[in-house]
Amino acid sequence: MQIPPVPASERRRLAALDEYELLDTSGEPVFNALVEAAAAICGTPISLISLVDAERQWFKANLGLPGIESTERTISFCGHAILGDDILEVPDAREDPRFAENPLVTGAPNIRFYAGMPLETREGERLGTICVIDHVPRRLTDGQRTALRALSVAAMEQFESRRVMLRQFDSTSTELYHFDIPTMRITFASAAARKNLGYSLRELHAKSIGEILPRIADRESLADLFKELRTSPLERAVVQTEARRRDGTSYPVELHAELMRVRDNETALVFAVDLSEKLRTESELHLLSTAVDVTAEALIISEPGATPHDSPRAVYANPAFLRQKRARAEDVIGKPVDQFYGPLTDRNRIFAMREQLEHGEDVRVEYTTYRLDGTHYVAEFAARAIVDSRGTLTHYVVVQRDITENAARGAALEMQNERLTALTSIARELFATLDAQKLVQALLDGADQLTGATTKLYAARPAGGFAQTHDLTLSERVRSVRDPFIEQAAMTDIVLLGEDDRRIAIRIPGNAGRTKFILDLRASRPFEAIDIFALGLLGQYFAVAARNVELYSELSARRAAVIELNQVKNDLIAMLAHDFRGPLTTIVGFADVLGEDDRFDAESRKFLAMISSSAMRLASLATDTLALSRLEQNELVLRHEQVDTVALMREVVRAFSVSREIVLDAAQDAIVISADPSRLRQVFENLIGNAIKYSPGGEPVTINLREQSGGAVIEVRDGGIGIPQADMHKLFGRFARAQNARTMGIGGSGFGLYLTKTIVDMHGGTIDVESREGSGSTFTVTLPQALAVAARPHRRVLLVDRDGDARSYVAHALRDDGYAVTVVPSGERMLAALAEAEFDIGIIDVDSAELAPSAIVAAVRDRIALVWIGEPPIERLTGRQTVMGKPFLIRDLYVAVATALGTPASSRALSLSRTS
Ligand code: ADP
Repeated sequence: MQIPPVPASERRRLAALDEYELLDTSGEPVFNALVEAAAAICGTPISLISLVDAERQWFKANLGLPGIESTERTISFCGHAILGDDILEVPDAREDPRFAENPLVTGAPNIRFYAGMPLETREGERLGTICVIDHVPRRLTDGQRTALRALSVAAMEQFESRRVMLRQFDSTSTELYHFDIPTMRITFASAAARKNLGYSLRELHAKSIGEILPRIADRESLADLFKELRTSPLERAVVQTEARRRDGTSYPVELHAELMRVRDNETALVFAVDLSEKLRTESELHLLSTAVDVTAEALIISEPGATPHDSPRAVYANPAFLRQKRARAEDVIGKPVDQFYGPLTDRNRIFAMREQLEHGEDVRVEYTTYRLDGTHYVAEFAARAIVDSRGTLTHYVVVQRDITENAARGAALEMQNERLTALTSIARELFATLDAQKLVQALLDGADQLTGATTKLYAARPAGGFAQTHDLTLSERVRSVRDPFIEQAAMTDIVLLGEDDRRIAIRIPGNAGRTKFILDLRASRPFEAIDIFALGLLGQYFAVAARNVELYSELSARRAAVIELNQVKNDLIAMLAHDFRGPLTTIVGFADVLGEDDRFDAESRKFLAMISSSAMRLASLATDTLALSRLEQNELVLRHEQVDTVALMREVVRAFSVSREIVLDAAQDAIVISADPSRLRQVFENLIGNAIKYSPGGEPVTINLREQSGGAVIEVRDGGIGIPQADMHKLFGRFARAQNARTMGIGGSGFGLYLTKTIVDMHGGTIDVESREGSGSTFTVTLPQALAVAARPHRRVLLVDRDGDARSYVAHALRDDGYAVTVVPSGERMLAALAEAEFDIGIIDVDSAELAPSAIVAAVRDRIALVWIGEPPIERLTGRQTVMGKPFLIRDLYVAVATALGTPASSRALSLSRTS
């Protein structure tokens, strides 16, 4: 016996066999019919469709060998038949060496004759055969051979269509079952079905459909299904049930069953659609649609028009959308969405949005949209395009939110910002104005600019009532207003709103909180909170500015009066002093001449001497007065030279020694300092003159002179009436006289010490007094060796002040004090001015600088001294910088400037500091 050899392509052949999924499947009528035909045509009792597996041959159809499903491949005839491409015919197996010993020949089923035609796939693999077998030797006729070949083709076609179907079903996710209705056996299940159930095909063959679909196994429903299948015209039925998996879990399926009839044999082809996904989707959809229904976001779904310019049509709108539009569903659904556009709608923006959507972008835009009643609002649209599987745009989904409130809030913020900026510039305007009329105009313009309000300014009359003012003042001719609103406003707290919110009164209090002004503002629209806020601020700014203007005008009025008075006084004094000296010279001259005349007796000559000395005193008083007047007009100029104070003192003492004993004690022979000798002489004369005058008992006067740090210290001591403690502090003031001097009738003007101190100050020196009433006084003067800086008229100031030359208060004050002042409006201009001319000091109003203080400091680099007016601008003040906070007194300015320059303060500064 010969074991059938294995074909060269055995592996591919077995793989092909697997693809058909035929092995171990149930018998099928179509194959049974084929073997019946073969047996009948060839006149044999046995016919088989045999598939050659790796180790066995298995019969898909079997006629004549009941009870045999398969045999071993080694003894198979078919194993041999598949080696050739045509019929293998064995007329008598006992005569054939390949089969003579074959147990199928030697024993049951006692094969004698065999003819098998291979079943060959399109790819050329032979899966098995359709064969005919007999217990007696025989031969096939040509016709029988042809028929056998034809039947193999028919069987193979069946296999092929089955494979195609399998491939199709297995490649898709379709779950497909085929089952035999009488036996309820599953003959086929697609890959998807097997996968979902968790069974292999072979395992399924062993099962009845009832095990897989337990609920249909229920007789009634199963019977129902079949009844429906048979009675429905298309022999189809749909039923929903549950499929049970191998692991015991089950899933919902929808069965689409179709009845198939081959002769009497009824089978059913069943598509099972796993519903779990669908049900899940359905429940998700349900949730989603509920969410869409309850959400406050307005949602509309529309179908696009032909082009982005054609209006889409609404297919769905959620309740929030209908609420937003105040519309009913029927007003919206099926209607073009451009019914919601209006004049304010930016259609170009919408077209652009649709174009963007077509490009698959999500879009977010804002535009004005309308309700059907014509009202409109600003909405934000978040849109997305829905595209089908072919990429065609099918829908727009748009969520729109009414952002009118946001937009309004945004606009309000912007407006607020704008207004605050405006308010700042109005405030600047108000504060820069020193003219009352201009101030009022700035106020009215400001209110108009801020809120479009028309404004009237009312001022309170001292006697009661209010009248309109254009320059803060009230003339008697202006009539008082009779307006309850104004009257009410005068009693209320700052702001009063009236007349449909279109009128506001702002109360501006003055002294002791009494109403001073009332701003009466009217607008064509109601005032909003922001208006009221802005106008309230405006009112406050105005109040401050008005106070400034009033103060300024008061000050300038007073100042003008003072200047005028001073001028008159100075002129008078100068005139008097001048006019006095002429006659006095004459008097002194004649008295002297007469005194030499022998015709007068001794007593007369004594009188003449008294006349002469009194006239001299008057003359010196006139000189002092003149000096004082010059001093006050800043005409007193020191002419410095090297002065030996010891020598000068000796000269003065000599002159006074005639009338009194004076002891001069000089520690050095000479103490030379830089000073104006004639002024210094005045100082010495005044001190010694006083010492003599206020020691009427004739007590000696002692003078000490000594050097100290290169300068001179001069003490003038007397044993006279002394000075009462109470008067000590004021002695150096103008016209100051001590009480005791007056009561004792000692004449004097009270100028002397004032002038003395002024001259000492101008030399950078000091003067002090020690005294006890009744036991004499000591005046001590110190004079430095030299002054640090030249005389004042040469001090040049560069002032940075936005107000400009004419309006700068500081410039005015500094010029008054003898400085040469140049005013520039900004730090930038200051640096430019510095490059062009020489200055000794820079004074910078911080608010006017515009440049960063550090930049100015860096540029100036200690070339000149700097005084900052305002908030300290720099962290650390280097060498020659001084800072003056605002506000400041003029005398502080003088002192600060002098300090920065390193010079003694001016006489004017000192007089201010004494009097203030
Ligand atoms: P007068 O012209 O009154 O002397 P002064 O300015 O020189 O004016 O002095 C001011 C006042 O100071 C005097 O009126 C006097 O009361 C007081 N006084 C000045 N020197 C002396 C002194 N040596 N002893 C006492 N009192 C003096």
